[in-house]
Amino acid sequence: MAKYTNADCKICRREGTKLFLKGERCLTKCAFDKRPVIPGQHGTGRKKFSEYGMQLREKQKVRKTYGLLEKQFRLYYEKATRSKEGTGWALLKMLEKRLDNVVYRMGIGSSRAECRQIVNHGHITVNGKKVNIPSYQVKVGDVIQVKENKQSLEMFASLKTMKVNTPKWLEFNPETLTGKVLAEPERDDIDLGIQEHLIVEFYSR
Ligand code: SF4
Repeated sequence: MAKYTNADCKICRREGTKLFLKGERCLTKCAFDKRPVIPGQHGTGRKKFSEYGMQLREKQKVRKTYGLLEKQFRLYYEKATRSKEGTGWALLKMLEKRLDNVVYRMGIGSSRAECRQIVNHGHITVNGKKVNIPSYQVKVGDVIQVKENKQSLEMFASLKTMKVNTPKWLEFNPETLTGKVLAEPERDDIDLGIQEHLIVEFYSR
């Protein structure tokens, strides 16, 4: 599967905000905290974006936060245009309901990239069946679990004592490494300061 090869911290600096792409490191040794400027020799200057530039940057910010390539992101957008819920919100909701994101929100991995790998490697079951497709869309009532025969792996064993802080549409029990989708996500569950109308404007041009 295609993936980003750019240095993650440069992506944050380019987008002018912390996108939390590197897990634990983002909370301790964040490159953006140390140097919050656009990469490159002109990065220290103040940059004013045109309307188009703002729309583009917002689209890129969200696309990179969820770790998607342009083609994948565009497909989500096109699907969202057919939703009755409003394109911007429908787009965010589909991104949020991806299995790799849900695994991240449950705290099973420390970044979305790590959670995508966890899913890809077949460590996750949904309703008792292995699902190794990161884009799988979860549904209300789905039970998501770290596969029982993988729970003793070091990367999961340490989760058993962790304090979980899941959004209200999800629950997760660290002792059993099992979570559940309690409801559909709501707009205030997505805490990334996203202005989705700019993304809709970008693609509507
Ligand atoms: Fe972004 Fe994390 Fe790098 Fe900070 S440490 S710049 S939040 S990827």
